[in-house]
Amino acid sequence: MADRPIFVTQPSLAPLDEFTPYLRQIWDSGVMTHNGPLLQRLEAEVSRRLGVKQTVCLGNGTLALQLAIRALDLHGQIITTPFTYAATASSIAWEYCTPVFADIDPDTWNLDPVRIAEAITDQTVGIMPVHVFSAPCDVAAIESLAAERGLKVIYDAAHAMCVQASGRSVMDWGDISCTSFHATKLFNTCEGGACFTRDDRLDARLRQFRFFGHDQAKELSDDGTNAKMTEIHAALGLANLGHLDAVIARRRELYRHYQRSLAGAAGLRFQAFHPDEYNYSYMPVLLPSEKTALAVVDVLAAQGIHPRRYFHPALHKTPAYAKAPRGDLSIAEDIASRILCMPLYHNLPTDQIDRICGLVAGCCRSNS
Ligand SMILES: *Cc1c(COP(=O)(O)O)cnc(C)c1O
Repeated sequence: MADRPIFVTQPSLAPLDEFTPYLRQIWDSGVMTHNGPLLQRLEAEVSRRLGVKQTVCLGNGTLALQLAIRALDLHGQIITTPFTYAATASSIAWEYCTPVFADIDPDTWNLDPVRIAEAITDQTVGIMPVHVFSAPCDVAAIESLAAERGLKVIYDAAHAMCVQASGRSVMDWGDISCTSFHATKLFNTCEGGACFTRDDRLDARLRQFRFFGHDQAKELSDDGTNAKMTEIHAALGLANLGHLDAVIARRRELYRHYQRSLAGAAGLRFQAFHPDEYNYSYMPVLLPSEKTALAVVDVLAAQGIHPRRYFHPALHKTPAYAKAPRGDLSIAEDIASRILCMPLYHNLPTDQIDRICGLVAGCCRSNS
């Protein structure tokens, strides 16, 4: 047994004394929210760091997806993946659009552009692909398909902070890209998220919707909601941003440690990705069968170690989306049935990783 339970992740937090000077600034200025000085600074620093034109920080990543759908004025079917977190599909449904599920690639676990093309109907208005576990989708193929068929593309890039795709920030692809700064994500503001777009008109609409519908002249020229990020959340982001490179480097090291330790595990596979186009925020492993995956969960739980069946079940297998239109989803179903995300965070000791890998390899041996 470990002294303390080991969960799948722990938030990466800057030292407390790097956060408190920002709190002092808030106390001094009395500005707590709505486009305050810390939020503006965070937006500028994230834009510079990612090399994107504009960053619109928001209350969370789910609101980012919803505002993106609104900003593009989408009404109809939006093609997405069933191998994702609930927020991808729920943001579509919550904006009165219909999620349509298409199958994924068996190696990258991202939406397969061929399956997207097959799912297009006369009601399709957009595509919402997810860069699963930060591995970029086939962005070039999706861009040309969307251009050819006149569809909008919103990327759910909740996992993909700091990732490059074909030489530019992954956030620079699509009409709008959305990310999450939730506590469990690579970069966090506790709760938070952002939209990215190269289009000034969309950028202005996102800022307007975030603030109840007031435009830049403060005129209430459209409706909107409250999707603001507070100064306290922006402060945490500014403190954490300074440590992001170290966090990624450490996670890459631990990821590679897992890969080496699991090299001999029979039938176990890793996600296919380009090593320069990945942020190592998750440690997903594909077990040879669902039976083995469940055995691993039990064996590790007995030792106080808690991987997650992330993402399981595939969304079309949940009551919420059982009736959503879809094609054949056998690859997503298969991957979802036998995937596990193993514990991965900056201060996870490597001897614990070795212990975990020994137990996983044992399950692979006895279930093969
Ligand atoms: C975390 C996550 C979201 C939602 O982000 P929140 O900030 O928690 O609202 C959306 N999509 C995916 C794939 C996620 O993992």
